[in-house]
Amino acid sequence: MRREILTLGAPILREKAKPVRKYDANLKKLIEDMIETMKSANGLGLAAPQIGISQRVIVVLQDDDSPLPLVNPQIVYAEGLDEGEEGCLSIPNLFGIVPRPWFVKVTGYNPKGKQVKVEAEGLLARALCHEIDHLDGILFIDKAYPNTLYWAEQGEAKETSAK
Ligand code: ZN
Repeated sequence: MRREILTLGAPILREKAKPVRKYDANLKKLIEDMIETMKSANGLGLAAPQIGISQRVIVVLQDDDSPLPLVNPQIVYAEGLDEGEEGCLSIPNLFGIVPRPWFVKVTGYNPKGKQVKVEAEGLLARALCHEIDHLDGILFIDKAYPNTLYWAEQGEAKETSAK
């Protein structure tokens, strides 16, 4: 089921999300809904707080377009610097340049509770950092170089864009 994406001003976007403790049917359904919502909004990623759920769950779109869900994700290693453009489905039409690590290692759990480790570079690393930030109430506008922020035309909303 597609869920409504909350936008800037919704208090939950600024809250620290709670760790997931139960790997049950509700979690599976939440992840299914997040993937559907991300795809129908043409996003590269989505975090549970963006649909009003204060839980540490993210989904990102991998380079082969398959969705990767991560529960309780943590960045355990980061290297390099990549300055690229980002947007956010919760802040439609605003874009800016955000410094991120070029390479990250992330650990987390799959929907069944099995630990997974992901290594990512470039755009996928950026998407992971952006979504994990959401779980701590951090938005890309907090990290963007202020003088690079700009409003685009309507209809260009996308998550973690890279032009
Ligand atoms: Zn976002």
